Amino acid sequence: GLPRASMARRYRLGIMGGTFDPIHHGHLVAASEVAARFGLDEVVFVPTGVPWQKAGRRVSKSEDRYLMTVVATASNPQFTVSRVDIDRPGNTYTIDTIKDIRAERGGNLELFFITGADALRSILTWRGGDELFGQAHFVGVTRPGVEMARRDISHLPSDKVTLLEVPALAISSTECRERVASGLPLWYLVPDGVVQYVAKRGLYTGANESEILVA
Ligand code: ATP
Ligand code: MG
Repeated sequence: GLPRASMARRYRLGIMGGTFDPIHHGHLVAASEVAARFGLDEVVFVPTGVPWQKAGRRVSKSEDRYLMTVVATASNPQFTVSRVDIDRPGNTYTIDTIKDIRAERGGNLELFFITGADALRSILTWRGGDELFGQAHFVGVTRPGVEMARRDISHLPSDKVTLLEVPALAISSTECRERVASGLPLWYLVPDGVVQYVAKRGLYTGANESEILVA
């Protein structure tokens, strides 16, 4: 018969990176949709360490963002959370995330890096550049308010990048934070457990010690 290695189906792992400050239903719908369309075995959510793209902004502590991500994904057997980015000192670069996930999992992985259209557009500015395309397939999901014409990514290798429309959800973490700060409800924009976690820790009210200023 065929040698074992060629018969074994590679494990199809999605990676959903994000600041997740807080995680919301836009993130969860995107991950769920990509998992279904690409036949993924699992999607691992990876909260960023220091998000260099957001330098100068206040960001909740890594541990709070990690725990909200765990709470939000707990009920889905296909969703997991990794600490590789929050446990690595320094800025988070996608090439490091991918390498650390490979090291953490071992085995024969086929990786699908899931990202919003806004982030995909600037993909070549990421450290790792072309090396990234040898490591993973990139799935750019549309989000409301982001025009994503095929020509915007025409400079990227077409066999390594797929665009996917997900059910439109006009939710952003920025809006979630602003709503809390102005006393508006978070209910139904994020999972119930995240609403409760935000309230319990006093996140986004400006009245807690849980935020750091990213240099
Ligand atoms: P912020 O408003 O603080 O920038 P965000 O809502 O964009 O937060 P991130 O943690 O920055 O959330 O996003 C992680 C990933 O999820 C990014 O690739 C982003 O493009 C994508 N994403 C964010 N919101 C949505 C949404 N509503 N639908 C689909 N993808 C989304
Ligand atoms: Mg964003």
